[in-house]
Amino acid sequence: NEFEGFYQPIINMQQGAISKLEALLRWNQSEKEILAAFNFIEVAERSGLIIKIGDWVCRKVISQLAIWQKEIALDIQISVNISSLQLQQPDLADKIYGYLQANRVSPSNLIIEVTESMVIHSVEIAAQTLKRFREIGIRIALDDFGMGYSSFQYLQKFPVDIIKIDRVFIRDIEENECNNSIVSAIIAMSKKMRIGTVAEGVETEAQFKYLYRLKCEEVQGYLTGKPMSSAQVQQLLEKQKASLNNPPIAINQ
Ligand code: C2E
Ligand code: MG
Ligand code: MG
Repeated sequence: NEFEGFYQPIINMQQGAISKLEALLRWNQSEKEILAAFNFIEVAERSGLIIKIGDWVCRKVISQLAIWQKEIALDIQISVNISSLQLQQPDLADKIYGYLQANRVSPSNLIIEVTESMVIHSVEIAAQTLKRFREIGIRIALDDFGMGYSSFQYLQKFPVDIIKIDRVFIRDIEENECNNSIVSAIIAMSKKMRIGTVAEGVETEAQFKYLYRLKCEEVQGYLTGKPMSSAQVQQLLEKQKASLNNPPIAINQ
């Protein structure tokens, strides 16, 4: 019982508000140290333990969605990272659908994040599983876009609703002409294909402004919120809800 689901806000640029959350796994090894996922996910994948851990994460996220819907009437979308090993289970989508139904949560509240490198080993089964997710009404995000071997082939083969642009392209976007050409091309292509765009790893105001000008739809990164506990993110969401219900009164009325 040392695992915990953390949540990082994803901000819609036009609304200037949290539109989604990404669930990121944390391991509370001791009172002092909380391990981030990059420290242990690879080992969990190599050992096969990721199947059980991934199942725990899905159940946890869906029950959290049910709690937020019931207790604070909050309709938020959460995206969950899914490993290639999980995608190789032909019944994965229907198992997750069962969890959603048991908790009375709509499939439209859930997004599945996959990476290019992850789906590469099992293209056929992965494609079928992803298609099934889509039929159920769960959306698909392609994570770390641009860092794999065959980004464009995946767009052609798999049903994709959202592209998450890897943070290596965002890091120096204001001064690196090559990266800013790549990012603006990804955004233009996504718009034509009616695919949503999220820029990952946004850390500075300058990057944020630049992405706003490029008409990137959503951003995620330390600038707009680090991954945090469910209690912390709930406070943020309640504050946002209160301010949307009571917009500040204009001074010059
Ligand atoms: P990811 O899905 O691309 O998640 C984003 C990672 O970048 C997270 O690391 C997050 O903490 C970090 N990050 C977010 N904003 C910033 C920023 O502004 N700057 C920088 N430098 N980093 C930022 P984390 O939580 O350690 O996760 C690492 C990877 O582990 C994730 O990459 C994802 O692929 C995987 N992962 C995390 N949770 C799960 C899970 O529940 N299941 C599976 N299968 N994989 C997971
Ligand atoms: Mg992710
Ligand atoms: Mg990513």
